[in-house]
Amino acid sequence: EDGFSTTSKIQRDRLLGGLLSAGFDEESCLSRYQSVLYRKDTGRLPSAYLVEKLREHEALQRKCGPNTVYYKKALKQLKSGQGIETADCNYLVWISYNGLGNRILTGASAFLYALLTNRVLLIDRGADMANLFCEPFPGTSWLLPLDFPVDQFRGFNISTPTSYGNMVKNKLLNNNAGHSTVESLPAYIYLHLDHDYGDYDKLFFCEDDQKVLEKIPWLILHSDNYFVPALFLIPSYEDELHRLFPEKDTVFHHLGRYLYHPTNRIWGLITRYYQSYLAKADERLGIQIRVFDSGTDQHVFDQILTCSFNKKLLPFISPQENIAPITNVRSKAVLMTSLSSGYYEKLRNMYWEHPTANGEIISVYQPSSEAYQQTEKQTHNMKAWAEMYLLSLTDELVTSAWSTFGYVAQGLGGLKPWIMFKPANKTMPDPPCQQVISMEPCFHAPPFYDCKAKRGADTGALVPHVKHCEDVSWGLKLV
Ligand code: GDP
Repeated sequence: EDGFSTTSKIQRDRLLGGLLSAGFDEESCLSRYQSVLYRKDTGRLPSAYLVEKLREHEALQRKCGPNTVYYKKALKQLKSGQGIETADCNYLVWISYNGLGNRILTGASAFLYALLTNRVLLIDRGADMANLFCEPFPGTSWLLPLDFPVDQFRGFNISTPTSYGNMVKNKLLNNNAGHSTVESLPAYIYLHLDHDYGDYDKLFFCEDDQKVLEKIPWLILHSDNYFVPALFLIPSYEDELHRLFPEKDTVFHHLGRYLYHPTNRIWGLITRYYQSYLAKADERLGIQIRVFDSGTDQHVFDQILTCSFNKKLLPFISPQENIAPITNVRSKAVLMTSLSSGYYEKLRNMYWEHPTANGEIISVYQPSSEAYQQTEKQTHNMKAWAEMYLLSLTDELVTSAWSTFGYVAQGLGGLKPWIMFKPANKTMPDPPCQQVISMEPCFHAPPFYDCKAKRGADTGALVPHVKHCEDVSWGLKLV
């Protein structure tokens, strides 16, 4: 190969096939262009159309973002409470909450919705969003300016009268045929898409309702769900989504790697850990343990072992006290993540106290054991983010059912994990685990409604690429 094409190939790889913009100062966010040195090439390239749309969207974020004349104008109009038929710039404000995995998945969903509807995405920075993630759009900020009247919106919930669901329910908005009956449109609408949302809120996922929302310059979104699969059920977005994602199982893989780059401090946590414990092994296995009760349960440990042995992810131990051959043995590093240290200690001791049956050397590591979820504590979320990212750098992955923490790791890494089913009655499920059909996250609280027929429906059976999840039977995922 000649020098020129080698250089351009390196450039292309660094930018993940054009997914990333070249327009950033590298030093300000080292992870953005260095991740390629740590992550195996998954071979899943973004479509040329997605790349084009991302560059267009970046231009929109710059044109309408904080501190621009358009932003100032739109903010003034929001404060006036009056809607207008055509605004220069339309906005989606995402108020983040809940665990970090949930937040990462919801943010990607909000971004896809913003991309589809040409809205500027601005995020509520909360306690730590700015410390965890680099800016995704060059030359502007996605952080909602501090002078935005966000406090007014943060407490919004299912009963807030200005939510889309409540306005339709109370006939303040008519969603028939896309015509609003209110004389003057509201300046904003609140979208309540939390896990506890109601049937009227779920009309968000219907085409006619989307036509009403199109006319509202400000949408304020409160959600903790990966609602992407339901966007694929809205006929008016079908063509565009197909062009953006000809490979439907790569939506979060691409959007996650586009949006979420660990800040330099977290990149330090990730790279130091990787180099110290994972880099030298021949293979890396990630095991993500998410149990919803504290303590260490034997049936969970049995499940981890049975799954890993059955799927040949870990070698059996030998009853003999043989001495393993000392040259040319394969080594495997196991990266465990869990809130408790019990499972890690058990696994590590098992491979210390016994030789492996095949002579393989197994090293077991766990970066932290934080005991319980502490969402408001900064170093806690930094570690959680570093660990999700480290899991995404492994070669094979075992995850726990129901956990968005695991979904983020699998999606970023382009991995199809073996997912361990949720134990019931303190017994190990049979089978203990199953490989997922696609790396996409699961939408845990989808609508069950056929918008055209106006009656309940199995939304996992409407189109071939939206199916039910392996771990949450009523959930939806792209395949
Ligand atoms: P989910 O609850 O499993 O869907 O994942 P979330 O990330 O949304 O929320 C769980 C939160 O608990 C995380 O964000 C962390 O704050 C914490 N957590 C759960 N498991 C782990 C873990 O293995 N390591 C660390 N550091 N934190 C964890």
